[in-house]
Amino acid sequence: MARDFYAILGVPKSASADEIKKAFRKAAQKYHPDVSKAPDAAVKFKELNDAYQVLSDTEQRTRYDRFGEAGVGGGAGGPGGAGGGFGGGFPGGFQGGFGSVEDLFEGFFGGAARGSRRSGPPPGDDLRYDLTIEFGESIRGTTRELDLAMRVACTGCGGSGAAKGSNTKECDGCGGRGEVRTVRQTMLGQMAVSAPCAKCSGEGRVIEKPCTSCRGEGRIKGTKRLRVEVPPGVDDGTQIRLSGQGEPGRHGGATGNLYVVITVKEHPQLVRDGIDLLTEIPLSISQAALGARVMIPTAEGEEEYEIKAGTQPGSELRIKGRGAPNVRRPNQRGDLRIHVVVEVPRKLTREQRHALESFADANGEERG
Ligand SMILES: [Zn+2]
Ligand SMILES: [Zn+2]
Repeated sequence: MARDFYAILGVPKSASADEIKKAFRKAAQKYHPDVSKAPDAAVKFKELNDAYQVLSDTEQRTRYDRFGEAGVGGGAGGPGGAGGGFGGGFPGGFQGGFGSVEDLFEGFFGGAARGSRRSGPPPGDDLRYDLTIEFGESIRGTTRELDLAMRVACTGCGGSGAAKGSNTKECDGCGGRGEVRTVRQTMLGQMAVSAPCAKCSGEGRVIEKPCTSCRGEGRIKGTKRLRVEVPPGVDDGTQIRLSGQGEPGRHGGATGNLYVVITVKEHPQLVRDGIDLLTEIPLSISQAALGARVMIPTAEGEEEYEIKAGTQPGSELRIKGRGAPNVRRPNQRGDLRIHVVVEVPRKLTREQRHALESFADANGEERG
């Protein structure tokens, strides 16, 4: 019984090598006996396999075209049929018979289906600690002791989770790989997906006899005291990373990091603009005109400051190097910028009115 290999693959006799390859992949995906529910899937797949072996090989295809199936050796089910011609697109083996479903999909998806996760104990969590500091502390820096309630490595087992004298062994649920493969139906057809092994939680190893203090976790609830150096110049929202000060992983997995997130309390008179500090000072018209000594707010407290005669409203005075330090370059410090607000009195006493009238007369102003 001569079979029509072109019909089996669903391609015309004139199909290019590329079209044949595509048609085979599509059909093979549908009928692979590991994934297909069709009762005759194995037979269908075998046929596809035979057809592809012949049509994908130029020499074999020519002979088939001329002599039919008789021209290509072994014929139906002949072992080794078109030996060696098969398997071009499948790096994972696939010699004769049916390759494993993962080999097939690795061929199709360029190996993307193969999980890249490495087995072993998972790393511990990163932790976040919110620390509020005074404005002045943010400028000069500060040190804090933190008492953190967190999981710590179990002292009974040194963090491994295994009782003294016992050990861990390779997980027989996944052969130590930490993951298991399943085939799922998706919009694109059946796909091989890997999931962490449930028996070992993806670690690849299981504990023979769990430590009683931590029930095999390798870590227990506890507290840790930590000293945090807050560098000069930190701004609100700055994160300080303390490597390896987070939670230990299960079963001795790597320790996470601790992130200290800084909140800087507001200052009643100073705000930051990058590494500069901004403030505002109110001056009376006479202070602005005549000059004065006034108190100004700085990061280090109130200070006396000399206002020059003829200071203009809306002008900005700048004190170099009295801003915030650059947290990355501590030698660099911003400026303190002072915005001048000249206040015009809304009400005058009799005496003030006389004084201002004299000023106006001296100025040669006409009054109504
Ligand atoms: Zn323990
Ligand atoms: Zn496992």
